[in-house]
Amino acid sequence: MSATTTTPSVSQKKLHCSFCRKSSEEVKYLVAGPNNIHICEECVDKARKIIEEAQQTVKTEN
Ligand SMILES: [Zn+2]
Repeated sequence: MSATTTTPSVSQKKLHCSFCRKSSEEVKYLVAGPNNIHICEECVDKARKIIEEAQQTVKTEN
């Protein structure tokens, strides 16, 4: 009796990486953060490298 139509009510808002603007379909993973920001696994990787490099330069601080 229930006339429930299987309409895709989920208006799947396409998520984008807040850093490189790639959509969730273009990347493997998209990590959600606060304030509706997201970061893809590529940018996480980039960020990690930047931090590693920064830490190495900090070491030679004199
Ligand atoms: Zn990204």
